Amino acid sequence: MSKDERGRATRRGQPYLDEPEAKPFWANLREHKLTEQRCSSCKKMFGFPPQALCPHCLGSDYEWVPLSGKGKIYSHIAYHRAWHPSYQDKIPYNVSLVDLDEGGRLVSNVVDCPPEDVKIGMAVEVTYEDLPEYTLPKFRLVK
Ligand SMILES: [Zn+2]
Repeated sequence: MSKDERGRATRRGQPYLDEPEAKPFWANLREHKLTEQRCSSCKKMFGFPPQALCPHCLGSDYEWVPLSGKGKIYSHIAYHRAWHPSYQDKIPYNVSLVDLDEGGRLVSNVVDCPPEDVKIGMAVEVTYEDLPEYTLPKFRLVK
């Protein structure tokens, strides 16, 4: 297994599940709950990825709050070549930036939808892809 610039073991294509500040995020996803850190001092949402300090006031106290899972497409791109062999059977697929209603932006995919049908500003809602080791938040169009 190779190491990244911070010395973390990398398995390309997989998230860092063992980062201390990210563990609750992944545990909540396993229960099909999308959550985000909210600062206990300034009450603003941290955004993603999970982090130890508030990006707005540098406060270190926060709570994990449940999100509605609703948001809008901020931007997107269609991949016609697999970024990693595990994506080979998914091409063409989209990679989308989703602005969540409560704040925060996630990099994800819109599923059950051809990439050309994904448009900026479209309303989406979370759905969950359960993999053997972890669960990923994905999105689908709100009809
Ligand atoms: Zn803060």
